[in-house]
Amino acid sequence: MSEYKPTIGLEIHAQLKTRTKMFCNSKNDPDETRPNVNICPICMGHPGTLPVMNKEAVRHVLKVGVAVGGTRADFTEFDRKNYFYPDIPKGYQISQYKYPLVTGGSLVIPGTERKITFTRIHLEEDTALSKHEGDHSLIDFNRAGIPLMELVTEPVIHSAEDAVAFAKEFQLLLRYLGVSDANMEKGELRLEANVSVSKTDEFGTKTEIKNLNSFRSVERAIAYEIKRQVGVLESGGVVVQETRGWDEDRQETFSQRTKESSHDYRYFPEPDLPKLKLSEIPEFAEETLKKELPELPWQRRELYKTKPYEGLSDETIEVLVNTFVPTTEGEVLLAEYYDRVTKHTTKWKLAANYLTSDALGILAGEPEWVLPRPEWFTDLIEMVGDGLLSSRGAKDVLAIMLEKEATPKEIAEREGLLQKSDEGELKKIAEQVVKDNPDAATEYKAGKGASLQYLIGQGMKLSKGSANPQVLQKLFKKLLE
Ligand code: ADP
Ligand code: MG
Repeated sequence: MSEYKPTIGLEIHAQLKTRTKMFCNSKNDPDETRPNVNICPICMGHPGTLPVMNKEAVRHVLKVGVAVGGTRADFTEFDRKNYFYPDIPKGYQISQYKYPLVTGGSLVIPGTERKITFTRIHLEEDTALSKHEGDHSLIDFNRAGIPLMELVTEPVIHSAEDAVAFAKEFQLLLRYLGVSDANMEKGELRLEANVSVSKTDEFGTKTEIKNLNSFRSVERAIAYEIKRQVGVLESGGVVVQETRGWDEDRQETFSQRTKESSHDYRYFPEPDLPKLKLSEIPEFAEETLKKELPELPWQRRELYKTKPYEGLSDETIEVLVNTFVPTTEGEVLLAEYYDRVTKHTTKWKLAANYLTSDALGILAGEPEWVLPRPEWFTDLIEMVGDGLLSSRGAKDVLAIMLEKEATPKEIAEREGLLQKSDEGELKKIAEQVVKDNPDAATEYKAGKGASLQYLIGQGMKLSKGSANPQVLQKLFKKLLE
């Protein structure tokens, strides 16, 4: 069976983050829970209304295109994709057919050298949302007309795992660019997987799987479909080109309908919208868009593997690059926060560890708490580095700092967590300990290393836990050698 090679191509839809819808000024608010409030005659498809293009949405798609190294179209237009369905108020969807905004481009699956190449990225409007309840259906038109980006990959993916790893990286890119929140649970990111298997270099017949609502179901549905197709072929059957659904309860794909082809949609250019010469419109200039790009996920991964950062583990880097965290200034990428923390400290690794393990650990249990101003986090790291805080004390200070606004110094002082590192002050303690424990001192001089630990322990006791043990160790060595 293993001689069958699976081939997968993905179609990814992402709802774009814009203030208003694609062709009207109804609000684009994915969090609106009341049905049919963000609607107007245009997105309801009333006769006699005219669509007006949302330039912000066009810019979003072009930005993605620039980020993935795609080619921006010189000329573009919108087309009508005609079909009759209750969630399509106009009887057609405004989409792009012949002239997508972007062609080509690619993305490498993180941690591999496998490059996923793209056919096209285009812009269209979302359909309304249907809810089926018992013997009737309800339709919410809030979603109708929300700008929707569609990315089509080439058939170059060869495993379910790669399909998911790629889709996650693309989701991350959309979030970095701020063009989409891309939450799958909220339907802001939707995936369709085209799957075929073949023993030869020629592709087999593909099926298209829809209704995939999580990365887990994407992976399972593709794996299931590969197995199913191999089974069909092995038993002498043929794979039928069709659209299949994913049944979450039964964990299997099922036939929905035979696939329509593009001529069924009777595409034709949308007469109510202008055709665009993109190269002549300054706000769509690639140079301008390029300048607006943030540091991208793969660039950050590379950065953290070089010069001052080297030594950060791959796991730590992935957490920095993939996590969004609440801060006093709203949600930000952890890596961005880390950059601000390390602007004024050279303790790259210490800062990364405190952020990715301690701080995230605390925040996971306290959803109301936020990261403090980055400068304060820097101060905390410096205090640990200078021995003013033990690692235990630093964790206590950190927890308080995430709960309320105060500098680490204030907190440490107030809570009595400051470690004493002043050699003059600690020398008195060390001398007292040596005097009180002559046997241990003699043993250490005779070469018994364990006695040093004992002496340090006594010093900690005498200082009521406030001494910096590293400084004590140094002082004992000085006194006794
Ligand atoms: P259609 O005309 O049926 O929509 P397209 O050529 O537009 O097909 O491709 C749609 C998606 O299917 C793309 O992501 C493409 O990479 C993928 N695809 C095309 N042929 C195959 C195949 N034989 N196996 C798997 N995926 C395929
Ligand atoms: Mg197609």
